[in-house]
Amino acid sequence: MTTSGDTARLSALNAVLRVLVRHANLLLPQPFEELADAVAAIVPFHRIAVLVPEGPDHRRVYAVTRGTRQPVVFGGRTAVVPAVMRRVYVEQLPYFVDDTRQGLEIDRAAAEVGALSYVVFPVRSGDGKGTQRVIAELVLTFPEVGGARRAPASLLQEIADVLGSTLERAFRLARVRRLAMILKTSGDAMLAWDREGRITDANDAALVLTGRPRDQLIGTPIIELLGPLPDGRGPLELAASAGRSPSTEMTDRIALAPGVRLDLFARSMTPARALRRIVVAATITAVEDDPLVAAHALLRDLSHVVAAEEEASARLSRIHELEEQHRTLLDNAPLIIFRLDPGTGELVYLNRHAERLLGVPMNEALATPGFLRAAHADADGAQCFDDAVARARQSGGKASSDGEPRRPSGVPRPPPYEARLLRRNDDAITARGTVYPLLSEGGELVAIEGLLVDVSAEHAARTRLVQNDRLATLGTLAAGVAHEINNPAAFILLGLDMLDRLLKGAGITMEPTAAQGAAELLHELRDSIRRIVDIARDLRLFASPPAADNGRRSVIDVNRTVESALSLTRGQIIERAQLCRHLDEVPPVLMEDGRLAQVVVNLLVNAAQAIPKAYGREQSITVSTRSDGRTVEIEVRDTGVGIPKEILSRIWQPFFTTKSADLGTGLGLSISREIVEKAGGRIWAESPAIGHSGNGPADGGPGASFVISLPAAGRGELVTPILSPLPRTLSARVRVLVVEDEASLARALGDELGRLHQVTVVSSAMEALTALDDRAFDVILCDLRMPGMSGEALYTRVAESDPAHARCFIFMTGVGFGADVERFLAGSGRPVLEKPFSADDALEEIVRVVNRNNAAKH
Ligand code: ADP
Repeated sequence: MTTSGDTARLSALNAVLRVLVRHANLLLPQPFEELADAVAAIVPFHRIAVLVPEGPDHRRVYAVTRGTRQPVVFGGRTAVVPAVMRRVYVEQLPYFVDDTRQGLEIDRAAAEVGALSYVVFPVRSGDGKGTQRVIAELVLTFPEVGGARRAPASLLQEIADVLGSTLERAFRLARVRRLAMILKTSGDAMLAWDREGRITDANDAALVLTGRPRDQLIGTPIIELLGPLPDGRGPLELAASAGRSPSTEMTDRIALAPGVRLDLFARSMTPARALRRIVVAATITAVEDDPLVAAHALLRDLSHVVAAEEEASARLSRIHELEEQHRTLLDNAPLIIFRLDPGTGELVYLNRHAERLLGVPMNEALATPGFLRAAHADADGAQCFDDAVARARQSGGKASSDGEPRRPSGVPRPPPYEARLLRRNDDAITARGTVYPLLSEGGELVAIEGLLVDVSAEHAARTRLVQNDRLATLGTLAAGVAHEINNPAAFILLGLDMLDRLLKGAGITMEPTAAQGAAELLHELRDSIRRIVDIARDLRLFASPPAADNGRRSVIDVNRTVESALSLTRGQIIERAQLCRHLDEVPPVLMEDGRLAQVVVNLLVNAAQAIPKAYGREQSITVSTRSDGRTVEIEVRDTGVGIPKEILSRIWQPFFTTKSADLGTGLGLSISREIVEKAGGRIWAESPAIGHSGNGPADGGPGASFVISLPAAGRGELVTPILSPLPRTLSARVRVLVVEDEASLARALGDELGRLHQVTVVSSAMEALTALDDRAFDVILCDLRMPGMSGEALYTRVAESDPAHARCFIFMTGVGFGADVERFLAGSGRPVLEKPFSADDALEEIVRVVNRNNAAKH
């Protein structure tokens, strides 16, 4: 039996069902409007709404208000009401509010828009089996208090339950549509293919990426699009094998590591539609629950990534190339370049040249703590290095006064220092070191860098220059001194001759022993004065400045040179050792004048210095000369401390010295070797191995021996003057003119020569000319260096006007007369008396000149 209520109820339900059947998705304005109309036929509600939970705190509201303006946006959101949630969602019972004006805040808000009562029904999932789940709320509001209570609750709950199944479908559809939208608008390409490997679905991005319209793409075998996998499997096999897997786990269903790189063959957009290769990141997933689709793939275009990668790698290789170039540049730079850790001060970089220069493998150097400091040969040098590093360290970390970041280039470079660096083989180089800080933009110390430049050659050249300069000065001084000594010495010699004669002369009676003593004293005085003159002359020889490479070579008498050297060094030698000479007759050698003396003096001084004063009296220095006819050897041997084997090869290096600064410069041997080798000879040292055990210092050391070997001068170069033996006396007195400005010497000469000859003494060239005008002379004894007109000028004048008189000239000169005078003397062919000379020397020369002139007359 059906009541009218039942009938109304059925028709209402029918109306609702019709709306639901007509519309797949109820949650759109139009269908919802129709639903509202259907429900309105049975209940006079104010508003009908479906609220769908969305997240824990909100519900989405779909509502229609009858007769008034829509107060709520269709599809808007509202907060969750916990009381409703409990009642409706948990208990699955309707929730009534009879008077909204007295309810919750949200209820009072409803009252304001005209809803004075309302009821909420649970909308349950509609599969009809098992436990039901509340998926939404159906809310009806009424314009009067208690209106909700009067509504047909069971009918409305039935409608709510019918809505349940429809809503679920609507949710699903809405989700699918949204997903489809995502797929459609995705920038990544998505493809699906079936078990035959033919494409079944593609999104818009896939069309763009593959360059194919949809109708061409669908049905295309996937292998025409995607290149083989890295393991050689094609996408088809892959999908097939993945499809067979029974696993349901999502990760297992990904057939490949997500984002694997594959080649995609795309059609270009050009009219030719050529195929081009694009690199894509592919995530291929096997599909198991779709009989149609075997797999789908998400493809992301990596073209720009690949291009960027290629560019980056090109850049990287360019950087590597530059780096390599810089490294070679640094490694080959002829200096040591290093970098220190600013904190520890340890080496963090060293260029390759350091390896070559210091002879230490780079890795070893880098691994040795304090390597660079230790490479400094002297404590002074190490200190300089430390100071320079400390200075560099201090200049970091400070901001400049104007607040600008300091750039390294703005930091003043510290002054360089010079120090000796030890090499692995124990010899040393002189280096100029600079250490400077490397600062960041902010002025912080980033590193300490530095350079060490090998300046050994420069240093040697500089010192040699200074040395040469000193020698040149000394040479000039010595020549001057020698000249100044000559006249007084000449006078003293003549004076001694006179004294001798006086003592022997009549009128002076002396006891025979006293006379003997006086004679001996005179003899010794003569020797002493000659020695003074010799030393002055030798000093000049030794100190003559080195000539340039084309320095004139002279024929050098080796033994005489050795004697000169000995006379210069005797003072130093006799304090410590006995001097032994073994001078054989040897041929002369060809060398620059004075150089050999310099070498021998050097060896003698070294020998003397090698014998400590503490050694006893039995020490000796032996000088020998010997020759086999082709070479001449000079040996200097001592019984001193000797030379340890390990430094034997280093003593020839410039600046190598074991002596204190006031004793040695370390240059002597290097200069000596240079001189000897320039003359075509060799010089070497020998020293017995140290370690012999003597009986104390008196025995001396192992000693050392230095040998100079020089080629003997050839026969052609030998100019041995052949002197004819001449009678020492003349039958008659001859007329002698003495021209000498030095009064005492002139007087002594006059007296001495006057004993045998008729002598006229004048003190200048002008006076001589007058005298020569007056009368004839047989011999003119003329000083070369005189104030006013020189002896040379006088001779030239006489040679022009009176050649016979010119042949009577004998020149007198001091040592060190210089090249010009030498040339003049050689040109004139006139004999020379070198001051100081004895009266006998002068008389002999007078006889020679007179005889020669007489012979020429006949
Ligand atoms: P210097 O004498 O100024 O040191 P040299 O070049 O003349 O410079 O000598 C170099 C070094 O050779 C000396 O410091 C010394 O160690 C060594 N030496 C030279 N001659 C001798 C010697 N006769 N005996 C021992 N050592 C020597």
